Amino acid sequence: MSPAHTVLHTVFGYEHFRGPQQAIVEHVTDGGDALVLMPTGGGKSLCYQVPAIVRRQAGCGVTLVVSPLIALMHDQVGALLEAGVEAAFLNSTLDWPQTREVEQRLARGELTLLYAAPERVTTERFIALLDDLHARGQLSLIAIDEAHCVSQWGHDFRPEYRQLSLLHERYPDVPRIALTATADELTRADIVAGLQLQEARLFVSSFDRPNIRYRIEEKKKEPLAQLVRFIEHEHPGDAGIVYCQSRKRVEEMAAALQDAGIQALPYHAGMGAEVRQQHQDRFLREDGIVMVATIAFGMGIDKPDVRFVAHLDMPKNIEGYYQETGRAGRDGLPADAWMVYGLQDVVNQRRMIEGGDAAEEFKAVLRGKLDALLALAEATDCRRVRLLRYFGEEYGRSARADGGACATCGNCDNCLQPPAVWDGTDAARKLLSAIYRVHQASGLSFGAGHLLDIVRGKDTDKVRQYGHERLSTFGVGREYSDRQLRGVLRQLLALGAVGVQRVQLEGSYSFDTLTLTEGSRPVLRGEQQVLLREATAQAAGRRTRRAAAPPVAAANLDQDAQVRFINLRAWRAEVAREHNLPAYVIFHDATLAAIAERNPASLQDLQGINGMGAKKLEAYGEDVVRVCRQ
Ligand code: ADP
Ligand code: ZN
Repeated sequence: MSPAHTVLHTVFGYEHFRGPQQAIVEHVTDGGDALVLMPTGGGKSLCYQVPAIVRRQAGCGVTLVVSPLIALMHDQVGALLEAGVEAAFLNSTLDWPQTREVEQRLARGELTLLYAAPERVTTERFIALLDDLHARGQLSLIAIDEAHCVSQWGHDFRPEYRQLSLLHERYPDVPRIALTATADELTRADIVAGLQLQEARLFVSSFDRPNIRYRIEEKKKEPLAQLVRFIEHEHPGDAGIVYCQSRKRVEEMAAALQDAGIQALPYHAGMGAEVRQQHQDRFLREDGIVMVATIAFGMGIDKPDVRFVAHLDMPKNIEGYYQETGRAGRDGLPADAWMVYGLQDVVNQRRMIEGGDAAEEFKAVLRGKLDALLALAEATDCRRVRLLRYFGEEYGRSARADGGACATCGNCDNCLQPPAVWDGTDAARKLLSAIYRVHQASGLSFGAGHLLDIVRGKDTDKVRQYGHERLSTFGVGREYSDRQLRGVLRQLLALGAVGVQRVQLEGSYSFDTLTLTEGSRPVLRGEQQVLLREATAQAAGRRTRRAAAPPVAAANLDQDAQVRFINLRAWRAEVAREHNLPAYVIFHDATLAAIAERNPASLQDLQGINGMGAKKLEAYGEDVVRVCRQ
């Protein structure tokens, strides 16, 4: 067995490297530079942790890990210590004596990994420490995590990352590994240039997340009830994240979920820093908390057992959607990415683009990105194929010997329950001509509600006020339901065949009106077909679970084993609290499930369980056996 494999087994308790991990580990252990692009949950940490351990054993000294997030450093170092690896961090949470102590341990060569924030790394004091280590041949490896922070174009830009190139200039012989989950070309080029990684070998993983089930449903009148039903039926007691667009909505939704008996906490940038931190800590440390948040929440959250990510409002683009949904299921167990969206979401997003003061060129880019997301939402074919294609990857190509791509994934709503489609071309033409006639008759544009009333021939005050019952298009769409017409309108907005304009009235009152666009023509002429998903009564892809159903990890266990699992979890919660660490740092759910299934009678029986390294076996083995014997 290679030294790397031995470390993987004995320290981390894992059987095999995942995907490209082995190639990366070998390359870096041998002293090569690497740029690693791997999706969230792909297993980036091991790519530098295993080389760090192997190289220290070979006498090369310490690995420096540059990481932008303090909370993450704490948990990562905690996890390494649990696995018996000498690790420490240097950041602003340490007081002076603590800092001194870490520095001394570093100088004495006691550390295998040292985590530090970028602003720390570039101080004179720290560089002097590194100089000293380097002069003695004890600076083994430099790992730069979240490397996309170097890119000015990204949302996580950290100016200090730009200065990290000085490490390479000072220590050109020390191998470096940079890692990120951000895959686009622009960011990649920025990383290579900003960190001087021109010579590094590039490792690009598939960005597929096979255990995540993508589901996009029509938003009903009561989206909150929809969400509660989803959580109660499919994820009772599971940890999850619910994304909403505004702070106000976050507060409302969190309160409403609490009323429904779900353990939910709000999180947004408008809350006090202390409360926010407290909510984040509880989410990380306790089991089964649902975080209701704006997109301010999530970067660097590496909680592996988030079982669902729900979107109650549509994100702006596929990049955002993929990053947010990617926080589900990092442990590889089944997880849901669930989104509801409706006509209003489309109107809002379109209007935000049109109404902003961005340059026309920039608006065109935003429009294109929104269109791609709308197309994904309206799609009737495999969501995964579309998502990956957006990122330039053909689904299943690498998996097949003939190089051809598989058609579908089998784990998204459209694959599991192919939606029926109906031809909405006629309805679409009726809607468009109604927009046209109304404008022609009065010179005014109206919102969706009034327009639908006209097409369906409803006798309302507003209709009478404007005399719209006399229009030739009044009632032309009587045969369609309100819901059907809303679907058609959504599709037309998605296609760009209908535009949105905000009309500002006196005071702060304003409303969105619908207008024809260049894209309306082909539909009006009948040259473009409008196909829609048939509205289904039941949501697709449902894994209905009883209210008291076991967590996903334990779903396949027999009843006795489930009882053991629950007891093990309670024991783990106590240990985690004592150590002030998240529960998953002690053992993952999957490891607890494997223990519960094996029902160990002795330490011997715990050998070979995934996630049970030597140190953990020694520290917790007896407790675990005792809990199982209870
Ligand atoms: P990333 O940083 O890429 O999002 P992590 O390094 O946090 O991913 O790894 C995600 C999860 O997968 C972690 O909980 C880790 O313990 C687990 N993991 C990583 N590599 C392996 C492996 N070879 N075998 C089993 N589990 C692994
Ligand atoms: Zn699919």
